[in-house]
Amino acid sequence: MQKKEGYPTLFDYAGRHKYLTFAALVLSGISALLSLAPFLYIWLIVRGVIEALPGIPDTDALIFYGWMAVLFAALTLLVYIGGLMCSHLAAFRVAANIRKATIAHVLALPSGSFDAVGSGKVRKIIDESSAATETYLAHNLPDLVGAIATPAALLVMLFVFDWRLGIACILPAICAFLVMARMTGRRMQEKMKQYQDALADMNNEAVEYVRGVPVVKTFGQTVFSFKRFKASIDRYSKWVVAYTKELRQPMMFFTLFLDATFAFLGGAALLIAGLASVNTAFIVDLVFYVVLSPLLALMFNRIMYMSENGMIVKDAMARINSLLDIRPLEEPAQPRRPEDFSIELKEVSFRYPAASRDAVHKLSLSVKAGGTAALVGESGGGKTTVAALISRFWDVAEGEVKIGGVNVKDIPKRDLADTVSYVFQDSKLLKASIADNLRIAKPNATEEELKAALTAAQCDDILAALPDGIATVIGADGVYLSGGQQQRIALARAILKDAPIVVLDEATAFADPENEYKVQRAFEKLTEGKTVLMIAHRLSTVMNADEIFVLDEGELAECGTHAELLEKHGVYARMWQEYTTAASWKVAKEC
Ligand code: ADP
Ligand code: MG
Repeated sequence: MQKKEGYPTLFDYAGRHKYLTFAALVLSGISALLSLAPFLYIWLIVRGVIEALPGIPDTDALIFYGWMAVLFAALTLLVYIGGLMCSHLAAFRVAANIRKATIAHVLALPSGSFDAVGSGKVRKIIDESSAATETYLAHNLPDLVGAIATPAALLVMLFVFDWRLGIACILPAICAFLVMARMTGRRMQEKMKQYQDALADMNNEAVEYVRGVPVVKTFGQTVFSFKRFKASIDRYSKWVVAYTKELRQPMMFFTLFLDATFAFLGGAALLIAGLASVNTAFIVDLVFYVVLSPLLALMFNRIMYMSENGMIVKDAMARINSLLDIRPLEEPAQPRRPEDFSIELKEVSFRYPAASRDAVHKLSLSVKAGGTAALVGESGGGKTTVAALISRFWDVAEGEVKIGGVNVKDIPKRDLADTVSYVFQDSKLLKASIADNLRIAKPNATEEELKAALTAAQCDDILAALPDGIATVIGADGVYLSGGQQQRIALARAILKDAPIVVLDEATAFADPENEYKVQRAFEKLTEGKTVLMIAHRLSTVMNADEIFVLDEGELAECGTHAELLEKHGVYARMWQEYTTAASWKVAKEC
């Protein structure tokens, strides 16, 4: 269990179900002590027989002992089951609470961090790491108490009868224990981490692999082009084989020592018998040890599996904490409201986590309220990053991003979300009805409002073709929308949201002319009377912007109106030249 300062421990997650865990531990301890009783009674039976030899023993007493053994065996089970019920109730609660806490945390994180961690990994952490704690709390921890209670009682009993035989029983157990300590030490904890890392890595690559399948098909590549996935599998298998080989010897000795208790006991008994005369009392004592020694093996096996799971849980908690370590964006201490809906970037620098250079470097630009500005430039120039910074998907490292004269860090997240509509490069629709997809933007929107937004976004033809209109679930029962159609629904969502600032990211890049025309019309509706920052490849759509900013490797190369930039004969003029040539070439070809 993680006991590090600042992180919640497993028990913190149990909340008010903590007492159930304690009840489980106590019951498990009691059950462990009860489990010794049947052995004592069996021994009493054997003793009765041996002492009466060659006569007939008192059978009434023997039958009584037999029933007592059965009774205690049943009690042991019942108490244990009671304990397990308590521990399961608490364990499921803990796993659920861990899931809730991590999901709540993940939702508050900067939107970009999923790319950094990998969504496959995030899923594994939330899902599997919390599940690991469940096994530990439900089974392993109660067993731990049992495993401590039994040897304590056993030790006392072992030495009560004949200390020499007691030592003979304990010796192999101590050897097994030493071997086990080697198997579960700090080095093995490190190995366990590597193992889980390799597994998480493979998981992540598998998700990326599945995502990439369409690309593979499109380009007719073979599966072996997914080198990273294959490499992660290779790493994993190499690791597992090495791990298994390393454990082979200690595991062998561990099992050997545990199963060798009888050999030790037999040897000791022969030795002692050779030294002194053997009487009935000695044989009766020996029988006691013979009866009880298998319990030792059982107990040690339990401890071993428990400490293995203990390592898994320690690792799981560390992973959960690594997720909790990613800091959410802070809410402002003194929230302010934007004075108008202008956008301003002042000397802004930003670098992605783990990147070697700034994605945006000392960039300044401004869009006045109600104005339209365009961002253009080579791919990788930082356009999408600028759009993300305005929506505060990330916090800038240097400089300020301001909306209406107020730093976005001083605007409450909710307000900022209401102020800026960001239409993504690849707007994703959820597998939900069209109405629900729109209501993400405005949960209490009436049906009329939904329909008005869809009409404004030129979606009437899409709706007409759908079986259940706006109640149609996208992605189910063969209902699929083309990229352009999805884009229009996403625009309807933005129109419904009606935010005063609209940021559009390369949303016009659709090949078929019919869609393109409609998407264009939907844009016009969406941007009416708004402050607009648009990112577009096709320069014809940015010609009419009040100001055009040309980005090059994260820096401002030039800015001005279309006419001014053409005058300059700089980067933009060259891009325009290329663009018009390409366009006329297309027209000529079509003619
Ligand atoms: P554009 O939209 O102009 O094509 P981007 O803003 O997407 O450019 O990217 C700017 C730079 O930041 C590029 O060098 C890109 O590789 C890098 N980048 C973009 N997104 C990430 C990310 N999530 N993590 C790390 N680097 C990124
Ligand atoms: Mg981009």
